[in-house]
Amino acid sequence: MKRRPGNIAAVNALLELTPDGLYCPAGDFHIDPWRPVRRAVITHAHADHARPGSRSYLCARDGEGVLRTRLGDKTAIDALAYGAVLTVDSVRLSLHPAGHILGSSQVRIEKGGRICVVSGDTKTAADPTCRPLEPIRCHDYISESTFGLPIFKWPSTAQVLDEIHAWWRENQSQGCTSVLFAYSLGKAQRILAGLDPSTGPIFTHGAVEKINQCYRDAGVVLPATRHVGGVAEKRLFREAMVIAPPSADAPAWMRRFPNRSRGFASGWMRIRGNRRRRVVDRGFVLSDHSDWDGLWATIAASGADHVGITHGYADEMVRCLREKGLGASVVPTRYEGEADASPDAGPDTFPDTHSGEAPGGDDA
Ligand SMILES: [Zn+2]
Ligand SMILES: [Zn+2]
Repeated sequence: MKRRPGNIAAVNALLELTPDGLYCPAGDFHIDPWRPVRRAVITHAHADHARPGSRSYLCARDGEGVLRTRLGDKTAIDALAYGAVLTVDSVRLSLHPAGHILGSSQVRIEKGGRICVVSGDTKTAADPTCRPLEPIRCHDYISESTFGLPIFKWPSTAQVLDEIHAWWRENQSQGCTSVLFAYSLGKAQRILAGLDPSTGPIFTHGAVEKINQCYRDAGVVLPATRHVGGVAEKRLFREAMVIAPPSADAPAWMRRFPNRSRGFASGWMRIRGNRRRRVVDRGFVLSDHSDWDGLWATIAASGADHVGITHGYADEMVRCLREKGLGASVVPTRYEGEADASPDAGPDTFPDTHSGEAPGGDDA
């Protein structure tokens, strides 16, 4: 990146990095800005990408409901269908599926024949709750690298779901509640969509149930779920699967399940040390981000001659890209995508207003 005065650095021909985040001067908009701006283009509703306070927001139509739930009813949000082209000042802007969560987008910007794509977060693995990632040809590609190390290679989703069901049945045989921690936006719904409801009752934390409603409103099919707070027949807990955000793993909330097994679904479970650190009973390797091979495949499909890398293992990824003869540089970010350490949900109430919602970082 070339340094420019006033803490502004040129990222490529169409984007600059400013104290507010990525900025497109030709279109006068920011992408996933860190601070309130005039025009924010949002790749998806995770908290490290969708910050409150901007005057106006643009997102993919599929993601409008979740973004509104996260940012509040009064937020000015314009929604754009995937693939539709919007002319913003002198640039052509369009949004394309990123495969990460419902409504997640890659942002494509074109001016004077030069094309730049900002990936936001991507996932190449199959997910019935959102549209699959669309490879886009471009000159400049900006990719995340949350799991940009070769050790991150995901097992198939079907295999992980088999493991989750086996754990659930094993817990049932011991009269034990299966409490599975998963980020409330995206991961929770992806797991729910893969659960076989004939196995037993499925209950949710309020933060998960609120997002479930957005997904159902957008036409995503999920099995029937009930908020744990509304369950009077406590004996049902003995054979239930409970989906909750990691922040619910505290004595006050867990008290209702005296006999339980705790699982955690995250890409970080690929690393043994993380399993110990969280002290859960079972770790399931399930991420809503691309693994190493997925990141490479997406970058290769872009045909970009310059790649900007942000989030996660950016230095390592840039080194590998340069070794392969590609132009590559780190695009610094203010936020890192690891959610394990941060609370991602407010109090367990449903239905709820937006007050008290304290979303943390992005999921992994
Ligand atoms: Zn992210
Ligand atoms: Zn994300």
